[in-house]
Parts: sequence; C-alpha cells; structure tokens
Amino acid sequence: MEVVGARCLMCGKTYQVQEDHKDYRNLVAQEKEMPTFICDICNHRVRYESDEQRREKKPL
Ligand SMILES: [Zn+2]
Repeated sequence: MEVVGARCLMCGKTYQVQEDHKDYRNLVAQEKEMPTFICDICNHRVRYESDEQRREKKPL
C-alpha cells in the first residue's frame, strides 16, 4: 500500500498516511515534500469541542 508523509496542522505531528485514508488524494495533490492535513485525533477533538459549544449556547 502507498503511503505519504504528512504533518498535522493542529498538533504538528507527522504521520504516514496510507492510500485508503480519506485525505490521501488531497495530500498527494498538494505536491509538497511535507503536505499538511488534520489528523484523525485532532478531527475528533474539533468535533467534540464544537458539540460542547453548541450545548452551551442552547437556551435553558
Ligand atoms: Zn493532529
């Protein structure tokens, strides 16, 4: 399986992204030595935080 090295914009970690990952094509399309993406961990964190904010805004 093909892999591409990519850095997460949020946590700064580098990952070997496999070609079955949803962002793989985007990473290759960037044509950079170290393309950037949002890793799965940060994706989950963002989703969780936006859920929290929505809950706070909900009227009582
Ligand atoms: Zn990350």
